[in-house]
Amino acid sequence: MFKALLITQNDGQYRAALTDIDEAQLPEGDVLVQVTHSTLNYKDALAITGLSPVVRRFPMVAGIDLAGTVLESASDAFQPGDAVLLNGWGIGETHWGGLAEKARVKSEWLLPLPHNISAAQAMAVGTAGYTAALAVLAVQDHGITPAHGPVLVTGANGGVGSFATALLAKLGYHVIASTGRPSEQDYLRTLGARDIIDRAELGVPGKPLMKERWAAAVDSVGSHTLANVCASTYTHGVVAACGLAQGMDFPATVAPFILRGIALQGIDSVTCPMPQRRRAWQLLAEHTDPALLARISSAEIPLADALEYAGKLLKGEIRGRVVVKI
Ligand code: NDP
Repeated sequence: MFKALLITQNDGQYRAALTDIDEAQLPEGDVLVQVTHSTLNYKDALAITGLSPVVRRFPMVAGIDLAGTVLESASDAFQPGDAVLLNGWGIGETHWGGLAEKARVKSEWLLPLPHNISAAQAMAVGTAGYTAALAVLAVQDHGITPAHGPVLVTGANGGVGSFATALLAKLGYHVIASTGRPSEQDYLRTLGARDIIDRAELGVPGKPLMKERWAAAVDSVGSHTLANVCASTYTHGVVAACGLAQGMDFPATVAPFILRGIALQGIDSVTCPMPQRRRAWQLLAEHTDPALLARISSAEIPLADALEYAGKLLKGEIRGRVVVKI
């Protein structure tokens, strides 16, 4: 038997509870992992509370991220004792996830834990940090270097925004952080932001083309913000679109694309191919400052507290990343 945060839906009744589960009930997969750490993402909180239809199959073990040690492997790629991590691929949505003592998963979803990152640190990074790393790679792969000009990060105080700010600053970029929480200026400057702007100036309808202000941008906000970000990007710059904190809509025109040649790169952490994941984690392993990581990660909680923290997270009562020690 093992303990897991199990989500059930019976007769229309949605319920999440810490449950003892027989190992024989684990889903198919060629690697059995002893999970040592997981985390609570916004998506996990939505799944646990049932506020949004994240879970596609019931019963479901929650948790879109996990880190742990291989117990059994039918794959040549992993041996018992290997330290591994997993982000996305539908765990916690369509396949039993990481908020559990054990997980059986496909070997092709697993990455070896980078040697200089602990399981707890990997989960402090989690999908938020890994998504930020994918966005930073998009900026680099477009050929934008620090010499090209500043890079804007929207939703800078959020999980994705904090990691994007810290990574870009560490790589030498001049980071402009857009935030609705000017009271957190000191935190953003500690992460490496050079300039801070009020998100209100980007969040309202703008013009098809506006003054060019940044060479690239990492946007986790969407809606009018994304439209204005594109309209203010330097000619031949790039915008990495990661999220929808303001909205899923994109009320823009084609002007920035056809008159300034800017590129809009979508970021999808869930199905991102393995080679790009390896690059993202390599970037994180090389450029994540442990002291800053400790600042971004606000709490370490036991599995039994995950339910309570999911509610707090949705109410905006938590700043920074929550690590779940299993
Ligand atoms: P957080 O909740 O930690 O951060 C979101 C930030 O967005 C907030 O901190 C806030 O930043 C800003 N924000 C919130 N509401 C608004 C609003 N109405 N208008 C403008 N800005 C707003 O979330 P994450 O950083 O974890 O995720 C960010 C987005 O990325 C989410 O939409 C999430 O769903 C998405 N995401 C996408 C992934 C992918 O694979 N593409 C993976 C992970 C997340 P501030 O206080 O600084 O203003």
